Amino acid sequence: MPTNLDTRPVVLTGDRTTGPLHLGHYAGSLKSRLALQESHCQYLLLADLQALTDNADDPSRIRRNVLEVAFDYLAVGVDPGVTTIAVQSQLPALAELTMLYMNFVTVSRLERNPTIKAEIQLRGFERDVPAGFLCYPVAQAADITAFKATVVPVGEDQVPLIEQTNEIVRRINRQAGRPVLVEAEARLSRVARLPGVDGKGKMSKSQGNAIPLSATPDMIREAVGRMYTDPNHLRASDPGTVEGNVVFTYLDAFAEDEAEVAAMKAAYRRGGLGDMVTKRRLEEILVAFLDPIRKRRAEIAADPGYVLSVLDEGTRRARAVTQATLHEVRAGLGLTLADLTLASAHGPRALTA
Ligand code: ATP
Ligand code: MG
Repeated sequence: MPTNLDTRPVVLTGDRTTGPLHLGHYAGSLKSRLALQESHCQYLLLADLQALTDNADDPSRIRRNVLEVAFDYLAVGVDPGVTTIAVQSQLPALAELTMLYMNFVTVSRLERNPTIKAEIQLRGFERDVPAGFLCYPVAQAADITAFKATVVPVGEDQVPLIEQTNEIVRRINRQAGRPVLVEAEARLSRVARLPGVDGKGKMSKSQGNAIPLSATPDMIREAVGRMYTDPNHLRASDPGTVEGNVVFTYLDAFAEDEAEVAAMKAAYRRGGLGDMVTKRRLEEILVAFLDPIRKRRAEIAADPGYVLSVLDEGTRRARAVTQATLHEVRAGLGLTLADLTLASAHGPRALTA
């Protein structure tokens, strides 16, 4: 648990509360978060405000999924005794920092962000992009900097957003004339972009191509069954291609026995190993990995009162940290109450808190 005397590097990550977490989250980010939670001062943000930027017509979806994502965190082993879990919408300092940062970013810079460009296209917004969506990289910069995070373990799609954050950090620090904020580093895992089961894009909650961490064996079987393989590998005896074959991408990501996967790849390339067999093996591996997570999740979900108390405690802690940073940024920009009062021709009584 972070304390005022904590000198460990700070880690901040978050997840949009658009649905339960999936294998892409585990491989791309959660696994690293679990590895960092003892040695680092770690915060996890349930990003409900960011989720609203493309779900304004369905706020109940966002609300429902706050607890679902929290269940996932606890089920995979996030320890609320050492990691702080907070709800984004309950941290008003983040909204205020976003407003301040918005003045240090141009619209054309936001429009050039490759992640935002791709997401706008995927969501079919065309020219009707919600302003909140276009600006969510600014809000994300507020999230990261408010905690003074230096390490952000994320998937590949997040790299341009961390670059955007660091640009804002440099501009604010230049304006303040001192290092008020710190730059952050995107820490990518070995599997920085897990594809969806269809092999088309990255696995995403919003794209219907995900295997959730709470998947039952039947759901896993169904998802593995429709996984994209090599379309030219018609008979088991045909030589097949491993590159771009989603089954092998998942075996690489989740199988513990690397030698077994190497032997399967060699046999597949040579000819003689059918898709049915590779899929059945992947299915076994995923069931063995996800079964304990699903069972733990069911136990945790049976006690939502406990989970709410974890979020309440974490949000309270995060509120103090983010308020302190907001005050420093305001001071850096000359916008504290004291600055304004000093500048007032009417003297100290002109403004009260
Ligand atoms: P949405 O479709 O609502 O955007 P998402 O599935 O993309 O949801 P996010 O909440 O946007 O999930 O992402 C949370 C974190 O998980 C980010 O760090 C992101 O990079 C990582 N992540 C998400 N999907 C993948 C993936 N398929 N491979 C690797 N990392 C991923
Ligand atoms: Mg996303």
